[in-house]
Amino acid sequence: METACGLEKFTETLQNAGFVQVEVIVWWRWFDRALACNPGTSTPPGAQTLAGMLKCPGCGNVSISKRETDFHCTHCGRKIPISPAGIGLS
Ligand SMILES: [Zn+2]
Repeated sequence: METACGLEKFTETLQNAGFVQVEVIVWWRWFDRALACNPGTSTPPGAQTLAGMLKCPGCGNVSISKRETDFHCTHCGRKIPISPAGIGLS
């Protein structure tokens, strides 16, 4: 269990790193919950295709193309089959 002193120190560490709206509370026996915002702006990524969000389970490459019966890693050639049950990422 975290002490109040530890929570305050972690809060201060986040604030010193530039985070705002920092909230650190005791959450569970093994860990605490920390919420903080990084000030600034960002552009939402918008809608993406499934192929654009996949990462090859074999080599980690993120360039995946979709074919009729599978997804295909453009780096190592690994196939990620598409079945009626879904896709298998193992
Ligand atoms: Zn690959």
